[in-house]
Amino acid sequence: MWIKESESNQKKKHYVAIIGAGVSGSEAAALLANQGINVMIIDQNALPYGKLEDGLPKWHRHLRDKQEVAIDAKLDHDNVRFVPLLKIGRDIRFTDLVSLGFTAVFLANGAWKDRPLPIVGIDDYKDKQLIYQNDLLKWYNHKHEPDYKGIQYDIKEGAVLIGGGLASLDVMKIMMMELTEKSLKKRFGDDFLVDQFEMEKKGLDKYLEQFDVKFSDLNIKSPTLIYRRQAKYMPLKQPQGGTQEAVEKARIVSQRILDNYQQKFHFNFIPEATPILFKEEAGRLTGLVLQKFETKENAKLVQIPGKTEVIDTEQVISSIGSIPDKIVGIPYDGDSIRTYGEQSAISGYKNVFAIGNAVTGKGNIKTAKDHGSLVTKKLMDTYLDVNSKAFDIELEAYNQEIRKKTDDRISRLFSDLFTSELPDNLTIDHIWEFSKLYQDKVGYKDYASWVSAHKPVRYETLIEEKKSLDK
Ligand SMILES: Cc1cc2nc3c(=O)[nH]c(=O)nc-3n(C[C@H](O)[C@H](O)[C@H](O)COP(=O)(O)OP(=O)(O)OC[C@H]3O[C@@H](n4cnc5c(N)ncnc54)[C@H](O)[C@@H]3O)c2cc1C
Repeated sequence: MWIKESESNQKKKHYVAIIGAGVSGSEAAALLANQGINVMIIDQNALPYGKLEDGLPKWHRHLRDKQEVAIDAKLDHDNVRFVPLLKIGRDIRFTDLVSLGFTAVFLANGAWKDRPLPIVGIDDYKDKQLIYQNDLLKWYNHKHEPDYKGIQYDIKEGAVLIGGGLASLDVMKIMMMELTEKSLKKRFGDDFLVDQFEMEKKGLDKYLEQFDVKFSDLNIKSPTLIYRRQAKYMPLKQPQGGTQEAVEKARIVSQRILDNYQQKFHFNFIPEATPILFKEEAGRLTGLVLQKFETKENAKLVQIPGKTEVIDTEQVISSIGSIPDKIVGIPYDGDSIRTYGEQSAISGYKNVFAIGNAVTGKGNIKTAKDHGSLVTKKLMDTYLDVNSKAFDIELEAYNQEIRKKTDDRISRLFSDLFTSELPDNLTIDHIWEFSKLYQDKVGYKDYASWVSAHKPVRYETLIEEKKSLDK
């Protein structure tokens, strides 16, 4: 139960606000709360979890469920106040939140905006012939829900996917599975039961065997993945260490990963090309003009002057990365949050820090969690007088790249912060009233019942139900 601070006989405590209740925000919340620090964690969505619900493709259900159980354990805590359905920058101004008087504000809002495809005018076709990855994933993860009200997409044969990272391979899987399901239904009827989780696990050929169908029988015009470099340079496998041997090894594995995906999901691949223009007919996007490149010694990529290729398509899907969605009041340099020091402390504020995907530039659960944890522990360790012995050991073992970004400079940044006055009782009461107001507005009573009431219907549940009806 949350105790109103002024009514409690506990000593005065720090009060931290966290924007974003995904992997990194909840990690920071737990670390602070376990040390007796008050935390208010805000999310624009009804549920916490962030990209676990809306980004990570739904077939990763075990990973998702495991991570969500871990987040629940972190947020269902006496010292944590979860405020759902409150979008900072839309429902309240960021500067108004900061001025409530928190000891610190953490920005753990992830990267929810797609990096725009750098072709002038192409965004006019967004959600028509052009689809961005974040929108596609939201649709794919939730379209089976009976009350889904978002945009409906229809994957087209011969579509073109621009990308190159692991996420773009997931997008290609979605495209191929959607086309295969559509084709099976055309062949066997709309009620034909297709289990995409089984299809994803087995790959298309093995999945189709049970219906005595070959992929070639379906006559699907496969989509094409376009990447600006050769397959071995795709960032699919990170080198284990900085040696040339490790780099070469990672390249071999990256090539192998792409080959396996292509073999299992039957898509085309065009390397060393990037779209520079689009074709349009009667107000519709009908194709892309690709600039061709060649790879020289030392992996140097060189444009081949005048060498272009036209690819006709009625659908383009862009999977070239995500950037933070801008919030008014936060300074940006281009697409990145403007920070001082290495990363993390946001320019113009002495007590606002960024954690997770938006800072690390890495798009996975581990780095989001580790970064949230690293910054928070450092903050507590140095300035809240809370000893965290595990920190040094962890730091030693920690990924060098992230470490560089969250190094000693953070100590200096936090030094002013936690030597300042603790929030007084009036401020604590004010913050408490604020969170209560927004919780009451949406009918939030307690964490467990709220989360359970808002968990969506799962695809696997629907498929199991259909399978048992078919028996
Ligand atoms: C296609 C795809 C495949 C992936 N596959 C894997 C995988 O196999 N393994 C893996 O480890 N990771 C994978 N990931 C990445 C992983 O899901 C993310 O890296 C991780 O969940 C990010 O955590 P985060 O806390 O930094 O950000 P997020 O999860 O994005 O959390 C940010 C939170 O902030 C909230 N928010 C944003 N703006 C506001 C605002 N203005 N006001 C209030 N709240 C706000 C959001 O609603 C969200 O809950 C994948 C991602 C994608 C897209």
